[in-house]
Amino acid sequence: MKVGILKEIKSEENRVSMTPSGVEVMIANGHELWVEKSAGVGSGFSDEDYIAAGAKIIDTPAEIYAECEMVMHVKEPQASEYDMVREDQIVFTYFHFAPDEPLTRAFVKNKSIAIAYETVEGDKGDLPLLTPMSEVAGRMSIQQGAKYLERYYGGRGMLMGGVTGVTPANVVVIGGGVVGTNAAMMACGLGAKVTILDMNLERLRYLSEIMPKNCFPMMSSPALLRDLVQEADVVVGAVLVAGAKAPKLVNREMLKTMKNGSVIVDVAIDQGGCFETSKPTTHGDPVYDVEGVIHYCVANMPGAVPMTSTMALTNATLPYALEIANKGWKKAAQDSRAIRTGLNMVGGKVTYKGVAEAFDLEY
Ligand code: NAD
Repeated sequence: MKVGILKEIKSEENRVSMTPSGVEVMIANGHELWVEKSAGVGSGFSDEDYIAAGAKIIDTPAEIYAECEMVMHVKEPQASEYDMVREDQIVFTYFHFAPDEPLTRAFVKNKSIAIAYETVEGDKGDLPLLTPMSEVAGRMSIQQGAKYLERYYGGRGMLMGGVTGVTPANVVVIGGGVVGTNAAMMACGLGAKVTILDMNLERLRYLSEIMPKNCFPMMSSPALLRDLVQEADVVVGAVLVAGAKAPKLVNREMLKTMKNGSVIVDVAIDQGGCFETSKPTTHGDPVYDVEGVIHYCVANMPGAVPMTSTMALTNATLPYALEIANKGWKKAAQDSRAIRTGLNMVGGKVTYKGVAEAFDLEY
């Protein structure tokens, strides 16, 4: 199959949908890879790297859309690309159709095969193409928390891990899923005292087994959270309630009890955030202050580390891309439940319930 790797054109997006090593694997399986000029530059991969892997470098997205049977992106195609997508062409990327009506209607109209990373579902109901980005955001939340604790950035002037004879920071992580577990692991590694909260007893049991001694998994409750935030130096928001906005677990009254120069990192901001005072920020202007507490609320945290994010994403997407290219989308969807759940549009028909319901479209 002829597969196209497009350059990302959405603002602040520097990832690319396949690394040169992924390209090499696809070519070894008999596919032809067309990569748009400078597609990998933002992630540290040059055109020469792709040529060495066997790809052909193409000047424009129009040529790729015109010739390739499958095209891959990281973010959803932008308005300038809508008319380039062809009937029956496979488009494999993060779409997030439900909040985006123009995108949804454009893909109904163009009659392509839209396979969305975000709905590909693993055997245990997990979302294997979202997990790597949650891992990145979770780990990064502690890096940011540690940075903003520094006096220069307005923080308490505290080293997260402390030093000999000096207490480390007190880190509270709300939510013990992928983001929260990765955040807690990083904070523990730096030597902080970490409390991780979840509502799911099974999850707490698992965390108690795997976490180091400086991590305390606890059942989340409003009373406990009220106590913990008063003592916290960094609080990470990492809750997710599937299909709903994040619950506001820390209100302004609780925020007022926090120490001056403490830091909150609201990773759940892409679902509305779990602090009453959170509002989305950008990498260019990531923090603001409310009641003396620094708020870091960047909605696309992995975008800051495109090299790592690209490699993590390609590790996860490559097996699916390969299966689709090897078998064609129909046979791949028949054989694999994961690919079937990824199908959002087929030839002008919406095939994912949540998307159809969002815009009252036929399903
Ligand atoms: P996940 O489903 O793996 O984990 C969420 C956890 O929250 C679950 O274990 C659940 O039991 C727990 N939870 C739910 N309600 C709770 C409550 N009231 N108190 C304590 N725990 C509660 O989800 P995830 O992959 O870890 O993602 C977490 C959030 O981070 C999501 O909103 C996701 O969209 C977001 N995210 C943001 C970025 C970013 O760049 N800002 C990147 C990746 C993920």
